[in-house]
Amino acid sequence: KVRVRFAPSPTGGLHLGGVRTALFNYLFAKQHSGTFVLRIEDTDQTRFVAGAEEYIQDCLRWCGIQPDESPSHGGDYGPYRQSERKASYRTYAEQLVADGYAYYAFDTTEDLEAQRKLHPNFRYSYENRLQLRNSLNLTAAETQQLLASGHPHVIRIKMPEGETIHFDDMIRGIVSFESSLIDDKVLLKADGMPTYHLAVVVDDHHMAISHVFRGEEWLPSAPVHILLWEYLGWRDTMPQWAHLPLILKPDGHGKLSKRDGDRLGFPVYAMNWQDSETGTITKGFREMGFLPEAFVNMLVLLGWNDGTDQELFGLDELVQKFSVERISKAGAKFDYEKAKWFNHEWIKRSADTTLIPQLYSLLIGKGIHGIDEKYLTDVLGLIKERLTFIPDFWEQAVFFFKRPENYDLQAVQPKWNGEKAAFFSDIITRLETFEPWHGAELEDFYKLAIQASGMKIGELMLPFRIMLVGGKFGPHVFDIATLLGRDETVARMKGALE
Ligand code: GLU
Repeated sequence: KVRVRFAPSPTGGLHLGGVRTALFNYLFAKQHSGTFVLRIEDTDQTRFVAGAEEYIQDCLRWCGIQPDESPSHGGDYGPYRQSERKASYRTYAEQLVADGYAYYAFDTTEDLEAQRKLHPNFRYSYENRLQLRNSLNLTAAETQQLLASGHPHVIRIKMPEGETIHFDDMIRGIVSFESSLIDDKVLLKADGMPTYHLAVVVDDHHMAISHVFRGEEWLPSAPVHILLWEYLGWRDTMPQWAHLPLILKPDGHGKLSKRDGDRLGFPVYAMNWQDSETGTITKGFREMGFLPEAFVNMLVLLGWNDGTDQELFGLDELVQKFSVERISKAGAKFDYEKAKWFNHEWIKRSADTTLIPQLYSLLIGKGIHGIDEKYLTDVLGLIKERLTFIPDFWEQAVFFFKRPENYDLQAVQPKWNGEKAAFFSDIITRLETFEPWHGAELEDFYKLAIQASGMKIGELMLPFRIMLVGGKFGPHVFDIATLLGRDETVARMKGALE
């Protein structure tokens, strides 16, 4: 039975890499009719940020990758916040001590500081653990006495010396580590909270997690986790691991960091994130105008492809096509221009009915009220292909909702002159009764009138556009006239001639 988990720490906004991890877990779960669990890893109370958990859940909801079990949905393996599972961790840490795989360490922060001063590369490990203050070199009675007196202590794993620890990563194949290079990581902190290493293993076990997809930055922790699975007697049911490739900066030089967004002018968070202390808002893809479909599509291709040239994938299709074999080991470059292209493509593919409500809010924000839905849908039909973001609609379509403020006919080349003005006065009169008021017929009529005038088509098209739009942009001018209707078209033409 496939059970996977997304296990973020609620320490701030969720960046691209976090959502991609959630997405790969989700796709794998759905593909195998498995369960996608959200577990909040909030054992580091110094890094806890209020609001972050809710934000994470909102992000997943926005992306359409909702967990089956989570703090808010519940499930049979709860609680889903590590802070609420606190009691169980100590028991396991103590069991590890009793079995000789871990030990109590009583060194104070000052003791460790002093060690670091003496040895700049200090690490608590097999090399020096016998010179430090811990249950390995204190007598049982001394240890008991320190514990009984409430002396602050942590529990550390006793890393073996000279062993090779290896495992078969679903993406990387066999990966091995030398145990001697790894320090004696803290498992249980002085405040009684587990560290990430202990909590992640205990919870993956108790939540019956079968596969773990997580970022490459966790690869160095894998040997510690593997030993814990073994030491706790659970090695037979250890999940299969997959460490996802790094997401790189657009130029491919180094890992994309949270700070790169501000520096390079693109979002790195899924949704706006407001820092509770400074109040600063870091822009998110959602607020930048990305559709969730585009965001998810862009993310899945950061480290995966289906082996063909296909680039556009919807979530349902991804559930069918996703395959661990096609996840790459190499880092994936984030390309913001490409992300925008995905958005443009997904807007084109979106049903009008999903876009219309967003357009209404946009228009209301601009002070435009009471627009007929059929009219808005028709305008959207002309503009849809031109949008990278929904808010672009305003710039591209403003003239459908507001008369232009000025008509710069002087910008027309060759020069605006009396002859042209006369042509327009005449055509206005004829348009007042022309039937049917429709694109193709209007175009034929207008072009015949130009021919009859002896002027060139090119000379009289642009002024017409400027009269309707106020500038040199917009869709096909006869489609614009059709939608604006006779009264508005004629009124604008007259206005321009004044
Ligand atoms: N809490 C870790 C994080 O913030 C989870 C890492 C893992 O998946 O094991 O990403």
